[in-house]
Amino acid sequence: MKHIARKRFGQHFLADPAILDAIVDAIDPKPGEPLVEIGPGLGAMTNPLVARSGALTVIELDRDLAARLRQRSALEVIEADVLRVDFRALAERKGAALRIVGNLPYNISSPILFHLLEVADCVRDQHFMLQKEVVDRMVAAPATAAYGRLSVMLQWRYAMEWLLDVPPECFNPPPRVDSAVVRMRPIESPAAVDAALLSELVRVAFSQRRKLLRHSLGRWLEARGSTSSFDLHRRAEEVPVGDYLALAQELDPKPR
Ligand code: SAH
Repeated sequence: MKHIARKRFGQHFLADPAILDAIVDAIDPKPGEPLVEIGPGLGAMTNPLVARSGALTVIELDRDLAARLRQRSALEVIEADVLRVDFRALAERKGAALRIVGNLPYNISSPILFHLLEVADCVRDQHFMLQKEVVDRMVAAPATAAYGRLSVMLQWRYAMEWLLDVPPECFNPPPRVDSAVVRMRPIESPAAVDAALLSELVRVAFSQRRKLLRHSLGRWLEARGSTSSFDLHRRAEEVPVGDYLALAQELDPKPR
């Protein structure tokens, strides 16, 4: 039966064999690895992944698509909203750090990235198709237009690599935006900082990205009674990730 793509689920199915090959080659799945695919859809990426890994866990919210996928014995189908999936429990059950992949639903890509950030210690790597604009922000270096909260929060926990750009024509139906594939590898010993504190600090810093930090972060630090020597005569976008991490550590030296 023909599946009609559902807009509300961000369904844009990959339909370009060369791009699929390139992504699966980049992932390079090996037999027995704990591979998890988010949003398998009609299985464009699922099939070549299973061909190499032998087995695969897939997380799909669309009931009709999940039912189709359940026909395939090599797949473990979790019919659920990915944002409610307990990846820590999944990794414990598999007894190994997960390899997570997916052509993500773009309407919830940031929530997915932040949901996974909490379990980065249970993950070996992540390969995601995302809106290109989001990938640009993820991998951005300081003093560039795309550098912001997403860059700092993710670069704290992951080494990230832009892999390839994918134009709208490679999908059916084509999305309105350009796409890109990114690789994320959790950093072995990330700075021990409180995630909520770092998130708040970076949000305040970037709330007025064109102004000097003393107008935004300076006031916030003052209100907290901080005597930090953090250089506030910079703009948020000029501050390297390491400086934000150091400040968060200074404010809360013993998180959790
Ligand atoms: N991987 C497929 C489909 C990508 S489209 C391909 O490349 O062709 C995004 C997929 O994510 C769709 O199958 C959609 O049903 C699924 N999806 C959307 N929201 C989801 C959610 N909250 N949790 C899990 N899957 C979701």
